[in-house]
Amino acid sequence: MTDSPILLACPHCGTMNRVARERLGAAPNCGHCHQALFTGKPAVLTTSTFDKHVQRSELPLLVDFWATWCGPCLSMAPHFESAAKTLEPRFRLAKVDSDANPDLSARYGIRSIPTMILFAGGREVARQSGAVGSAQIVAWAEAKLSGT
Ligand code: ZN
Repeated sequence: MTDSPILLACPHCGTMNRVARERLGAAPNCGHCHQALFTGKPAVLTTSTFDKHVQRSELPLLVDFWATWCGPCLSMAPHFESAAKTLEPRFRLAKVDSDANPDLSARYGIRSIPTMILFAGGREVARQSGAVGSAQIVAWAEAKLSGT
């Protein structure tokens, strides 16, 4: 059903919002904090907010594991941000600072950064390590999601 509502977490306050699928592209706001549910930028997730976006949100989640000292991560950052503009609202894009959230890095076995992991339905669908451009990020995420 294309008009069935979808459950998604607010990137600002974490409140779960129920939004009709056809309204996803109409700049919906959070029912709690009233900020935009899609900002065109990756959400910054931490250990305390991550599970809600992975386990409870029904949007596919594309996460960039990175660190401040990692040159390739920094060069990829504007590409990932640009990909967010293209992939929202079909996907939620998010960044996790692997140094600040070592338990998440350990849980997902992050051995090199940047590493992108695509989650759908609470499960890891695909991952890729190494810096890539925005067009490749978009094409990779779309291809992997349609393969599930
Ligand atoms: Zn909110």
